[in-house]
Amino acid sequence: MKKILNFINLLLILTSFIFLSSSNKIQANNNFTFSNLSEEECLEFITNKGVNIPDDLTKLPSLGSFVKNCIILLEDNPNTIFSFNNIDTLNLANQIKTVILDYYNDVKEDSITIKTYSTYTLQDSIVYGPWNENYVHYNCYGYAINQTSKYVNPGYYSNKPFSILLSIYNIALLVEDDLYALGYNCVKITSIRPTTIQGDEKVICVRKGNIDYHFMKLSDGVWYHKPGGTAILQYKYLPTKSRIWTNEHSFRNVSYPGTTTYDSDIYYILYNQNHTITSKWTGQHYHSGKQHYYQFERICKLCGYSESKKWEYYFCPGPPCVTPWSYED
Ligand SMILES: [Zn+2]
Ligand SMILES: [Zn+2]
Repeated sequence: MKKILNFINLLLILTSFIFLSSSNKIQANNNFTFSNLSEEECLEFITNKGVNIPDDLTKLPSLGSFVKNCIILLEDNPNTIFSFNNIDTLNLANQIKTVILDYYNDVKEDSITIKTYSTYTLQDSIVYGPWNENYVHYNCYGYAINQTSKYVNPGYYSNKPFSILLSIYNIALLVEDDLYALGYNCVKITSIRPTTIQGDEKVICVRKGNIDYHFMKLSDGVWYHKPGGTAILQYKYLPTKSRIWTNEHSFRNVSYPGTTTYDSDIYYILYNQNHTITSKWTGQHYHSGKQHYYQFERICKLCGYSESKKWEYYFCPGPPCVTPWSYED
């Protein structure tokens, strides 16, 4: 009942605005703006306009402030381009955009005050390379693992459900499953930023915030990342827990300030195309007749994956037996 009353209240506020507004434009300071509504009222407004909020996002304490912030950003700049990596978060922001822009169009064609927007300059990164229209179709995760044909969340390639409510470690585990499903090997998760890279090892890292996650990728000692649907950026720093990431981004050569932050622990995920197989004596041996038998294992130096085991024998006069030997190739 309280909900219904709240909504009626909200309708009254909105309709009174429509009738009272005789000027051509919404003046942010003098008349109605969504920023005057509470977070709950903003949420109620968009849900009543048919915006569909995924179940896991409804459990977020920060949902109301997220919705209100999206609306305020749109009031400030109706051309706002949202960049989120979590598919649900991006969908929600874009649904809010449709509803808010429709609402203002219904009220008055030119109802949103067009301001001159100060140009934003990226703070923590620089744009890497020229704009490419394909950037629209994938996020930081696809960029990090070189899967650029679709916009996907961690868990997609291993068929596991994703939720932003998962811990950052559990998100890293989904990435591990995906990498194995994609045919990679030697996947290792660590909270320590690697300082040396073995052979053709690949290194990415992941972090999350309230409502979104973000990945970076190491290449020739430099960290790169690609906020959802936008340009590839070169990070100016090394990832550290103390420096909070934002989703500032560049879209069609225009830069936009961050609207959310990523402040969790950072997990680094190391992986390889192929194992580095070496042959190693397992420690198993026995004497039989004039031979001594040793068991060898073909094993990955990096991850311990055991490819095969086999017995080899050598002439042995024993007992007493010759000392067993081991070798690596
Ligand atoms: Zn391996
Ligand atoms: Zn022997």
